[in-house]
Amino acid sequence: MMCAYRMGCNFYDTAIPEEYGDAEYKLGVFAEKAGRENIIISDKARFMDGNDMFREVMRSAENLGTDPDIYFVHQVDEDNQDETFSRYGALDALCDLKKAGVIKYTGIATHYYSVAERSARDDRVDVIQTSGNIMERGIIDRIAEKDIFKSKGLILNKVYAAGCLLNVFSPAELIGGILHWPFSCALLGIGTIEQADAAMKEDYTPVQFSFEEVMRRLSEHFSPVGCTRCQRCLCPKGYEVHIMLRQYNYYHLGKHYWARKKLRLNIEEVYESCMKCTERQCMKDCPRKLRIPELIEMIHDFVTR
Ligand code: SF4
Ligand code: SF4
Repeated sequence: MMCAYRMGCNFYDTAIPEEYGDAEYKLGVFAEKAGRENIIISDKARFMDGNDMFREVMRSAENLGTDPDIYFVHQVDEDNQDETFSRYGALDALCDLKKAGVIKYTGIATHYYSVAERSARDDRVDVIQTSGNIMERGIIDRIAEKDIFKSKGLILNKVYAAGCLLNVFSPAELIGGILHWPFSCALLGIGTIEQADAAMKEDYTPVQFSFEEVMRRLSEHFSPVGCTRCQRCLCPKGYEVHIMLRQYNYYHLGKHYWARKKLRLNIEEVYESCMKCTERQCMKDCPRKLRIPELIEMIHDFVTR
């Protein structure tokens, strides 16, 4: 953290101990050494009820030894969003804490475009944290198209796709490649001094990678599925096609154990449903015209072979 700070990093993101282990304690020690006023701290907790969130923010402040600047409701998804946004839900608690001066900004962290859009329409939300990179650009493309996001702070994570895109692209390409999207800040996982060097040393210039170019580069290593993860493929049965297609690409980018394990969780059920499905609603809105049931069949054969 100190190495990155000396190279110009002034934004540090963490989460409660149940989610990120001892990160809050370490960040607190670092904040004192760097000078609290010199850095911005964002923190997060996966609690959707207001009382729980209130308690967690106070606990985070104690763990950090200082008040966080931004606090996110973490991993808001399509199932828990109603509770998060409801009266006396987690977002209301963050607003109260902001009024009381404990935090400066309220936030929603999500991997779902629908939740990001709901956050953008809600005056209580100051900052939205979501994920994207030159391969998984569907959500960030949609955000860039809509004016409602312009009044929010936008923070991007997964720029390296949990590290696996580094097997094909350089940090300069991955960082330069996201600079033209309208984000206030990008979060990069940095675990070593070499990684801090790679992330912070250069004055990165924006690079415009077309999606076709990204696919072409990936094709030198495996046959990627050309899904941008835009999340337009809505399935009436609730299957999250974009996650399955992502796991397939992640597997081939080196996340073997993790991706295969996730794919195995419900591939049989999804495959059987897709083979019987006649409506194929998911394909109707796919801008890339992907033949989703065939891809699910291919992934099923791959996982079960
Ligand atoms: S399958 Fe198509 S609609 Fe679904 S996330 Fe991928 S690109 Fe978007
Ligand atoms: S083919 Fe049918 S069951 Fe399969 S994901 Fe698409 S809509 Fe859902």
